[in-house]
Amino acid sequence: MATQEVLYDQLYRLDGQGYGAYKSLKGEYDFENFTLHIDHVQGDPFAAPSRVRVRVSQAVAGFPDSLWELPCRAIALADYLTREFYRTAEGSQQKSGSGKSGLISIVRPSQAVLNRSAARVTAEAVELRFTVGLPAFGRRIAGRQAAELLCRSVPALVTRTLLYKALNAAELEHYVDTAEDAEALRSQLSARNLVAFVADGAILPRRSGVDERPLTDQAIPFKSPDSLRVTLRCPHAGEVTGMGVPQGITLIVGGGYHGKSTLLRAIEAGVYNHVPGDGRHQVVTDLAAVKVRAEDGRSIAGVNISPFIGSLPQGKSTQRFSTPNASGSTSQAANIVEAIEAGATALLVDEDTSATNFMIRDRRMQALISKDREPITPFIDKVQQLYTDCGISTVLVMGGSGDYFDVADTVIALDEFVPQDVTDQAKAIAAKFRTERDREGGQSFGTLSLRTVQPDSIDPSQGNRSVKLRARDVDQLQIGTEAIDLSAVEQLVESGQVRAIAAAIVYAQRYHLTATTSLSEAIAAVMTDIAQYGLDCLTEWPTGDLVCFRGLELAAAINRLRTLRTV
Ligand code: ADP
Ligand code: MG
Repeated sequence: MATQEVLYDQLYRLDGQGYGAYKSLKGEYDFENFTLHIDHVQGDPFAAPSRVRVRVSQAVAGFPDSLWELPCRAIALADYLTREFYRTAEGSQQKSGSGKSGLISIVRPSQAVLNRSAARVTAEAVELRFTVGLPAFGRRIAGRQAAELLCRSVPALVTRTLLYKALNAAELEHYVDTAEDAEALRSQLSARNLVAFVADGAILPRRSGVDERPLTDQAIPFKSPDSLRVTLRCPHAGEVTGMGVPQGITLIVGGGYHGKSTLLRAIEAGVYNHVPGDGRHQVVTDLAAVKVRAEDGRSIAGVNISPFIGSLPQGKSTQRFSTPNASGSTSQAANIVEAIEAGATALLVDEDTSATNFMIRDRRMQALISKDREPITPFIDKVQQLYTDCGISTVLVMGGSGDYFDVADTVIALDEFVPQDVTDQAKAIAAKFRTERDREGGQSFGTLSLRTVQPDSIDPSQGNRSVKLRARDVDQLQIGTEAIDLSAVEQLVESGQVRAIAAAIVYAQRYHLTATTSLSEAIAAVMTDIAQYGLDCLTEWPTGDLVCFRGLELAAAINRLRTLRTV
């Protein structure tokens, strides 16, 4: 293996040459504390920057076993190192030259603690993956600057962020402990028949719609109603009290602007662990809880939405319903049925993002528009069957209709951000003021169908050999020429998840989607491979920009492919 000095000299020699000469750098270099792997060299200073890895052996890095022995702790440790590197690299950026010259960057972590391909800690080594913009003036190699970048800046970053002795040991330990505690809290949910747990003292509101950090000044800390308070135990923080959201049907009510959606969003985010200080680090949710909403305009491929939507105008089938342009109600029905198909155990629904005619049909409307003229069976008539027949709970924000009091098991009212258990009052009101609705939609939830994807209806390469994948932030991905709108898939939090999902669709198409495998089996197979071989199995080369995701979101992305055909 070449040494740091060899690399240094080589970079000086390359000075002034055409940019393409950088390609000769590909390879491994032995540095004092680590090895540097130059995996991919960019073609010009404006192209995607060059991909590199550093590996520091544990003999040098010195992370105690206790920080990485358990998988959830190893993930938290790797997450911490990624953040340290991100922060330090951001702070010491010195761009000089053309294009991306001199830039060192690593995936940008959100508030969630996630398993990312950017960092991995094992018994042998710590590996970090990032990109560097190899410096140029115009299109000529800036060799001296490149030598500074790779042989001075990178080693300095490694020394400051990847060696245990350089880090704040107490902060790091607390970080890893917090993630392990969240895992422990989540693991207790099902035994207690809970969908979610929101700790007393949690800070749920965020700074703004575009800033995911906690609101600091005016935030009212969460305080559970006594009747819903449970005590859970975790290995580091000990006993933690908070509100248990029971399985079954839970209604969140309250005046406008009293914090309903904020509570639901915290529950949505509870499928992930969060960094200490996030305010939601002890808010945990069943791992298969899915936010569903209306999404008019989306395409739907062969989904059995007949539990919710009966015969449509012009005799259109709803047992295998396809459309390039769904309505609010049909899109919400499809989103629910697809979530069930993908293994959801709880649905999270907000009136703010629901189709009114999907949620409710009151007595007066039933009188005016007879059932034979209305294909929709509203959610209110299906939500109990969803639980009794399919075991799927619902947490529903509904400030606008008291009709739901009849079907709710638990009613939580938010009053100036403070939750109260108003189940008994709601039930008394329901008995006093009858809705006089007719129940619609029959005695059972209805049939669920497993779909099989026509493998050739996903054609990422469009005939080309190399597949172009792109993630535009968290709400869009591009596969070949096809863009998938993910803005309604609200539990995605990092663009790296979207990038990984794009790669996973190609992977699924290549290895698991066949004419005889159901979509849900194929997705389960992809997730098993990732669990076994890591995110790297999704790409030809190791890359640092993939972030773990749930099978539920992979299914959601595939379901939104406009070319998708099913049998
Ligand atoms: P609703 O859905 O009931 O209309 P939202 O959840 O949208 O209300 O909250 C309204 C506003 O109040 C938001 O700006 C939100 O950030 C803020 N908010 C929510 N919960 C709290 C809280 N616990 N403390 C302070 N502000 C909060
Ligand atoms: Mg709201």
